[in-house]
Amino acid sequence: MTDRELVQAAEAASRNAYAPYSEFMVGAAALLRDGRVVTGVNVENAAYPLGVCAERVALSRAAAEGTRPGEIEAVGITASPCGGCRQWLAEWAVDRVAFLHEGELLVRRPDELLPDSFVL
Ligand SMILES: [Zn+2]
Repeated sequence: MTDRELVQAAEAASRNAYAPYSEFMVGAAALLRDGRVVTGVNVENAAYPLGVCAERVALSRAAAEGTRPGEIEAVGITASPCGGCRQWLAEWAVDRVAFLHEGELLVRRPDELLPDSFVL
């Protein structure tokens, strides 16, 4: 699967986003090393800070299915990942992140998105 196809899978998933407050529909698709694709969408809440981003949902779904950091090849997102999600992408040690930014498909490594990320 190409990075563009992964972002297209994210775009398809974004139709299921729950974003009644911002109406900003975001989708994400994680390509696991075994070839599976796990999608996520942003899920908002009336208590705004409780909302979750699409890529965190995708990574959480993958975790619930037994996936662990290092087992995800790439994540495609329909928008540039926020700062918190950049930390998640670093934790999950994905090879690359493909996302749409101002109409352009960008592909970055997590350490390019968040240099010197927090580690324990
Ligand atoms: Zn985020």
